[in-house]
Amino acid sequence: NKQVVLRDYVVGFPKESDMNTVEGRISLKVPEDSNDVLLKNLYLSCDPYMRVLMSKISHEGIGSYTPGSPLTGLGVSKVLESGHPDYKKGDLVWGMTKWEEFSLVPPAQILFKIEHTDVPLSYYTGILGMPGMTAYAGFFEVGSPKKGENVFISAASGAVGQLVGQFAKLTGCYVVGSAGSKEKVDLLKNKLGFDGAFNYKKESDLDATLKRYFPEGIDIYFENVGGKTLDAVLLNMRFHGRIPVCGMISQYNLTQPEGVTNLANLIFKQIRMEGFTVVKFYHLYSKFLEFVLPHIREGKVVYVEDIAEGLENGPAALVGLYTGRNVGKQVVVVARD
Ligand code: NDP
Repeated sequence: NKQVVLRDYVVGFPKESDMNTVEGRISLKVPEDSNDVLLKNLYLSCDPYMRVLMSKISHEGIGSYTPGSPLTGLGVSKVLESGHPDYKKGDLVWGMTKWEEFSLVPPAQILFKIEHTDVPLSYYTGILGMPGMTAYAGFFEVGSPKKGENVFISAASGAVGQLVGQFAKLTGCYVVGSAGSKEKVDLLKNKLGFDGAFNYKKESDLDATLKRYFPEGIDIYFENVGGKTLDAVLLNMRFHGRIPVCGMISQYNLTQPEGVTNLANLIFKQIRMEGFTVVKFYHLYSKFLEFVLPHIREGKVVYVEDIAEGLENGPAALVGLYTGRNVGKQVVVVARD
């Protein structure tokens, strides 16, 4: 049973060498009187929050990885054996698993049965999984969008951002995204239907850039990165704007987080800035599927994936999230069936 284990707690930017690919042992049987499920892992999801779990002192309520043990994460798997009445051999599921070929997991964790297989299975790590739910809940539930509003999205070409932009276009909003390369900017404009996009690494004055794209200001800022981008956005928000705070990836690897200086705009402009976690919204999952599946089938929502082949290439794919190497949702293929 090939596994990816954390070598030791990480300080600063994570490196490939912070993880090891090892041969572990696993009994390919569910123990008697256990309700665990034995999974064959097919696709693993690389998600930015995994860096937070690599720290010794993690944020309250999230926990930390254990050095020497396989990483845990979201994935798509096939049930090989089940001690739980809700799952049976041959079922396809997505949810919490581990970075290894086979895993024994308690189904008390997030574990959804996959009912629709006319779409790529890997989509359940992205558009039909946690990032899709995040985009949907963060934009519609937290962002409270209205037709005609101005929406700005950071990390816009990523797993979550590319969907927020497309959902905003479906709502009739004007949508601009920022991303870290020309390739990503072209993708946003030419494939994902954004009205505008820019490479934030090439802009020396983000405030001026935002003023150029949003002469009348921003109604909704979907926050994925934090730091300097947030500070510039605060100067450009409109009255009664909303900032769903989804993530702050620019801060996850810093030992000393950057300060944000323009927060007083929240008061003057009566802005609602609200952090959220997707976990709070999984009760909307079937409603979300009803919304998004027809759009996928009709080609009205598209999804860009970045596929790494093989569990041993997982560490490089995962650390690539923090340098922007991934173009779209980063997936690791362990097995295809
Ligand atoms: P992405 O697929 O967007 O991958 C991460 C991207 O972040 C990189 O490709 C890179 O894109 C960008 N990035 C990396 N470092 C920086 C930096 N220093 N400054 C600016 N951008 C940077 O990831 P996801 O779509 O999966 O996640 C996006 C955000 O959403 C993250 O902050 C994540 O933590 C958060 N999230 C929150 C959830 C919740 O429940 N609240 C659930 C899921 C995700 P680029 O080349 O454009 O810089």
